[in-house]
Amino acid sequence: MESIAQNPWAALAYLVAGVCFILALRGLSSPATSQRGNRAGMIGMTIAVVTTLVTHVPRIAPPCPTGAICENYGTPVLDTLTLVELLAAIGIGAAIGIVTARRIAMTAMPQLVAAFHSLVGLAAVLVAGAAFLNPGAFGIANDGVIFLQSRIEMGLGVAIGAITFSGSVIAFLKLNGNMGGKPILLPGRHVLNLGVLVAILGLIAYFTQDQSPWIFWTVTGLSFAIGFLLIIPIGGADMPVVVSMLNSYSGWAAAAMGFTLHNSAMIITGALVGSSGAILSYIMCRAMNRSFLSVIAGGFGGDAGGGASGAAAVDRPWKRGSAEDAAFLMSQAEQVIIVPGYGMAVAQAQHVLREMADKLKAHGVRVKYAIHPVAGRMPGHMNVLLAEANVPYDEVFELEDINSEFAQTDVAFVIGANDVTNPAAKTDKSSPIYGMPVLDVEKAKTVLFIKRSMGGVGYAGVDNELFYRDNTMMLLADAKKMVEEIVKSLD
Ligand code: NDP
Repeated sequence: MESIAQNPWAALAYLVAGVCFILALRGLSSPATSQRGNRAGMIGMTIAVVTTLVTHVPRIAPPCPTGAICENYGTPVLDTLTLVELLAAIGIGAAIGIVTARRIAMTAMPQLVAAFHSLVGLAAVLVAGAAFLNPGAFGIANDGVIFLQSRIEMGLGVAIGAITFSGSVIAFLKLNGNMGGKPILLPGRHVLNLGVLVAILGLIAYFTQDQSPWIFWTVTGLSFAIGFLLIIPIGGADMPVVVSMLNSYSGWAAAAMGFTLHNSAMIITGALVGSSGAILSYIMCRAMNRSFLSVIAGGFGGDAGGGASGAAAVDRPWKRGSAEDAAFLMSQAEQVIIVPGYGMAVAQAQHVLREMADKLKAHGVRVKYAIHPVAGRMPGHMNVLLAEANVPYDEVFELEDINSEFAQTDVAFVIGANDVTNPAAKTDKSSPIYGMPVLDVEKAKTVLFIKRSMGGVGYAGVDNELFYRDNTMMLLADAKKMVEEIVKSLD
């Protein structure tokens, strides 16, 4: 009987699946090709799952390392599940997935993603734990002595998995509002974090010489602790980078599981997720003007201000406008730039927004959309919503491509965006968003701001000075209702 690793057809199928995943990532890099990318991903996953099902035979011990005496080489060492048991497990997982996907609101996607990352991390810990407790069943030991290579894989796998799990749980609690967005800054946290990381690496090195259970479980416990310690000091506006970092960690955790299970598809997929997550984190860091290394070290956002320090100052004078005012101003404009944010997602206003843009275009107005890299609550959030409403891709611009145009624009139409327009990011060193590049909406002749109340603040919890500027008109209402009114007025 052959193992999956040794079956050339399975290896080939996994390779094809890996190529499909690479094509999927390539396709997903642009909205225009994203559907093709999704299809490639689905085909790859089907190939990987079917191959695993077809080859789910008892595995034999892997080739004996040079110089070692491997008596059990060639004998089945794993009591695999029956096909029925496997299909039942897939069925239960699929049912939970379908119910969750149907119930979850689009605005709750970030916390769902964080929850999924935590499950990947937990799975890596459980696989490593199972392999440690019964290494013979995984074909990674001879007479109970775990092979050196497997000890390294298990040590790293359990550490990355545990960090991913506890870090993602904290990210989930913060994104879900169960924990405040304010950073929790422990005294001497950098020294503490460094000490724990060094201890983990030292113990993994020791584990290669001595497979005592206390070493394995101490690595596990310390890794759970460091995941927790790395994420609690992260302040509100820095969460996007954390979400993509945890995405990357979950990929590496899956790759580590692949090594333990001798499954090349998992190694390839995990490495792809890990590296693409790391690249995304790097891009997000640049967008947020943060240093990549300080993100990996954790607590990079903690020194700035501390979250919800500036509540909205409702007693300052500000101008209120109506839907009719907004419709009049925009219909007279040469160019309108729409700036969508989290509030558009909450209100699900993207479809009626496109209707409004179509009407403006019919009035001869040039309409563009400006997307900030961290607008909304997950990377690409606004792009997804606008694509769902069939907004033409050539009307959608990234921050760096459109920021210089606000100065020549008649109306900046800000719909449910707040932090990504806040000039405090440029001027106020004590602000939690200080240093983040923002959309220069205030340079437009008129700024229309849709939000529900003057008291409401954005994710970072700070007031936005733009609301009180002379060229700003506040449109206080639910975004969808307000845009529906504007559409009626344009008629
Ligand atoms: P913000 O969270 O800054 O602001 C949202 C605005 O929408 C608020 O002013 C709110 O005011 C308004 N709003 C909410 N609901 C409605 C509604 N139904 N109708 C009209 N307005 C509404 O959003 P931005 O997109 O500007 O910024 C994103 C923030 O989220 C950044 O701080 C970013 O760092 C953070 N973040 C981003 C992630 C990402 O990956 N993109 C992940 C995690 C955090 P009011 O309540 O008064 O209506």
